[in-house]
Amino acid sequence: MPELPEVETFKRYLDRTSLHQRITCVEVRDAYVLKRVSARELTRRLKGRRFENSHRHGKHLLVRAGDELWLRLHFGMTGLLEYLKRDEQPPKTARVIFCFANNCRLAFDDQRKFGEIELIKDVDDFLQTRGLGPDALDIRFSQFKAMIEEHRGAVKPILLNQQLIAGIGNLYADEILFRACLHPATEAARLNDKDLRRLFRATRYVLKKAIALKTDFNRLPKSWLLTRRGTRGRCPRCDRALKSATIGGRTSWFCVHCQKPN
Ligand SMILES: [Zn+2]
Repeated sequence: MPELPEVETFKRYLDRTSLHQRITCVEVRDAYVLKRVSARELTRRLKGRRFENSHRHGKHLLVRAGDELWLRLHFGMTGLLEYLKRDEQPPKTARVIFCFANNCRLAFDDQRKFGEIELIKDVDDFLQTRGLGPDALDIRFSQFKAMIEEHRGAVKPILLNQQLIAGIGNLYADEILFRACLHPATEAARLNDKDLRRLFRATRYVLKKAIALKTDFNRLPKSWLLTRRGTRGRCPRCDRALKSATIGGRTSWFCVHCQKPN
């Protein structure tokens, strides 16, 4: 599932390929991913315009297409972008295709269709209406500390709560907690200042490193949990068997030796 690093990678890809070209048509192959906009309306509003720049907040990609007109993309479980040169065929699961005057196209591919495409007027209004928390790479330590201290319960569900901090999903939350040597079920209220600083640093490191590696799982450091999670997975630090448990409704992988519950 695309989390902050994946969406940042899509943003950079879109910026590199699809800005400043006139949109000649929008082909909607499956309107299921359209939210609060019809296929006809989407085409009518975007035709003749250009994607001018983009902004990412948490797992949302917002692409400016003119005054008070932004395209919002959310990648759900399996969404991704693919830029197609002239003769290249879109994937079978392309749901919406933006066609440009240079005959190239940008496909929003989404096998499982949990993704979302919407037109919005204003980014700040959208963030406020959704009640999204600060982006996980924008948040300052003082905000991060206050956010965790104000909430009860286990630390992992707090990291996953988009209303508190936006962008972290299940996989990177496990990686962050592994790096910070914190068990995912650790009571947030029991974290001291040192724990919080370690957790904050781990959050920034993991997200930034994943972006730098373009979220290519084959290139992730061997010291990471991500490539080992799953049955028969062993801890990259101590080589003991990894354990899993459902915490806050999500499957978590961790090492009970390296991440002691407090
Ligand atoms: Zn271990």
